[in-house]
Amino acid sequence: MSEEKDRKPILEVKGLKKYYPIEKGLSKRVVGYVKAVNDVNLTIYQNEVLGVVGESGCGKTTLGRTILRLLEPTDGKIIFHFGDKTVDFSALTRQEVRDYRKYLQMIFQNPYTSLNPRMTVFDIIAEPMRLSKAFTEEQITERVRKLITQVGLEVRHLNRYPHAFSGGQRQRIGIARSLAMQPKFVVADEAVSALDVSIQAQILNLLQDMKDQYGLTYMFIAHNLSVVEHISDRVCVMYLGRVVELAETEELFYHPRHPYTEVLMSAIPVADPTTDTKRVELKGDAGNAAHLPSGCPFHPRCRYGKEICRQELPQLREISPGHFTACHLADQLKLSGLEELKLTAKKEE
Ligand code: SF4
Repeated sequence: MSEEKDRKPILEVKGLKKYYPIEKGLSKRVVGYVKAVNDVNLTIYQNEVLGVVGESGCGKTTLGRTILRLLEPTDGKIIFHFGDKTVDFSALTRQEVRDYRKYLQMIFQNPYTSLNPRMTVFDIIAEPMRLSKAFTEEQITERVRKLITQVGLEVRHLNRYPHAFSGGQRQRIGIARSLAMQPKFVVADEAVSALDVSIQAQILNLLQDMKDQYGLTYMFIAHNLSVVEHISDRVCVMYLGRVVELAETEELFYHPRHPYTEVLMSAIPVADPTTDTKRVELKGDAGNAAHLPSGCPFHPRCRYGKEICRQELPQLREISPGHFTACHLADQLKLSGLEELKLTAKKEE
C-alpha cells in the first residue's frame, strides 16, 4: 500500500453515530440508548479492502448499513468521493440517496435468504438494471450473460431458480447481482460466513478478482480475523460500537496494539496440525451497547486494565504511521502478535 498522502479517499466517515432509543411504559418514555455505532471516524481509500472485525454486537453490520443509508445515522457525516465529485451522503434526501444507489452495493451474509426464490437467476441479476431504467432489454441480457460467466457460473444457469444452487453458487449469484450496476463501493457483510471453509476461499478469490477487474473498493465485514487476513489491505477492529484499532493488515496481525485485538488473534484457527495458537482468555461476557461501562468499554474484560481505564475513555490515536489504537496503555504493553502466540503455544505443548 502506498503512502497515505498518495491515496485518494472514496469514503470519509466523521463522528458517525447510530443510536436506538430504549423506550419504557405506555408513554414510550426514552430511558436510554443502544449505542450501536458510537462516534466512528474512518477513511477508506479507492480500490482498497478495509476489513472490519469484531464480535457479534460490536456494531460492524450497523456501521456498514448506516454508511449506505440503509439505516439512518443519528449523527455524523458520510462523505463519498466519486471521481472528482464529492457528495455529503449524510445530507441527501431519500430520493437523492436513491440516485447514488448504483455506486453503492451490499453483499449479504446469507445466500439462502438474500435471493428471491420466485425469480429466475436472470431476473435476479437483471432487476437492479431494470429498476434503474437506464438500460435496454438487449443491454441487460448482454450484461447478465457476461456477469454470470465472470462469477464462475454458466449461461445455462440463468433460467433456474435459487433453490437449484448450493450456498457457494448462490453467493456467486448475489455477487453478480451486486455488480450489475458497476458499483464503486461494496459492503460485503459476512459474505462468506455461512459457507463451508472450502467454498469460502473460492468466494474470497472471486471477490478479489472482481475488485481487480472493476476497480472496486470493499468494506469487508467479518466476525473473525482469519477471514479478513488475505483479502484486506487494512483492518479495523470494533468493540461495542467503537473502532479500537486500525492498521495495515500485516502490521495489525504481527504487531497488535490493543488488548482486544490480541484476544481476537488468539482465536484464529491454525491450518498446521503440528501447531496451535495460544488462547488468550477473555474475562466476562461481551458487553452491552445499552449499558456501556465507564472509561474504556473493554476494561471489564481486559487483563491489563489499570485505574485510568475505569475512569477515562481512551481516544483513537495514531501510535505509529498508519496504526491507530484506542488504549491508554498502548505505549507500555508488549502484546503478542500472531507469530508469538503460535510460538508460545508450541513451547507449552
Ligand atoms: Fe485494556 Fe485499559 Fe487499554 Fe482499555 S485502555 S484496552 S482497559 S489497557
